[in-house]
Amino acid sequence: MRPIFHPSLVNGRYGDPTVYVETLFEKRSVLFDIGEIASLSARKIRRVDQIFVSHTHIDHFVGFDHLLRLLVGHEQTVHLYGPVGFAERVFHKLQAYRWNLVENYPCELVFVVSELGTEHSISTTWFRLRKAFAAEPAVSRETSAGILCDEPTHRVSAAILEHGTPCLAFALQEAAHVNVWRNRLLERGLPIGPWLRSLKQAVVERCADDHLIHIDEAATSDRLVPLASLRDLLTVTTGQKIAYVTDAADTPANRTAIVALIQNADILFIEAAFAHADAALARERAHLTTTAAGEIAREANVRRVEPFHFSPRYAGDEERMLAEVMAAFRKSHDG
Ligand SMILES: [Zn+2]
Repeated sequence: MRPIFHPSLVNGRYGDPTVYVETLFEKRSVLFDIGEIASLSARKIRRVDQIFVSHTHIDHFVGFDHLLRLLVGHEQTVHLYGPVGFAERVFHKLQAYRWNLVENYPCELVFVVSELGTEHSISTTWFRLRKAFAAEPAVSRETSAGILCDEPTHRVSAAILEHGTPCLAFALQEAAHVNVWRNRLLERGLPIGPWLRSLKQAVVERCADDHLIHIDEAATSDRLVPLASLRDLLTVTTGQKIAYVTDAADTPANRTAIVALIQNADILFIEAAFAHADAALARERAHLTTTAAGEIAREANVRRVEPFHFSPRYAGDEERMLAEVMAAFRKSHDG
């Protein structure tokens, strides 16, 4: 199947962390972090409608001004997601400029800014150009498992990591394509009904084999059947999964949270800020080493790993940095 997501590192492995994901959904792109983005064309930047910001250290957020400059005068709504305190940072960025004479502007520009407070709670604040980007009262809602947005085409989930400050890691998951074979249903005497929707959903959500599906049969009592026994009724085309992990201390809690989030990703962008030999420095700065990045990728069974955020101290040493990540990544693949 043709991949629907086309991600790329905007500033290479050493520059500001930013991944641009072109999607095949109509005119829509996604950004993970918004560091320096001057190398992206205006056309590409104007296609972005979702921006996921890990945290607001300057190298991850400085590109917001560039984006703002390009969007003023265009009718657009951009959704931004970040950790707790994020809306206030966006507010201050917007309030750094004077916005008089905007009430009658022909084009409205809206920033919808959501903060993931805990993995169960999101708070959203709206900022509109015609209101001089005054913050509207925040609206809270519940979520589960760090799900930031859930659309028919794709879902983005986050894990909250420790980096001296809360820092989000992200997973972008294309919805699976699930088809039910009607003839197989009939052969097994199973009814066509709303339960098929829960069945499809369970598959889309990658539930385990022992997950129970409720088959509602009108005539007899309800039946609970493990998902495993129903899989042969379906054809499933798994969606693509892209993960983005940066600025995380190498702690057991962070590793557990990252591995759970990025499990089986097709492509993992992961920071490898420090070389293996500089693990002490990495610990002090709350970053991952090359080896840690490779080990995490391996443990999560990702298909391809793209390390980035190499510290400038390793300029000219890209091959060595990559080799360290790959050595840790491949170790387990060979057993
Ligand atoms: Zn940072």
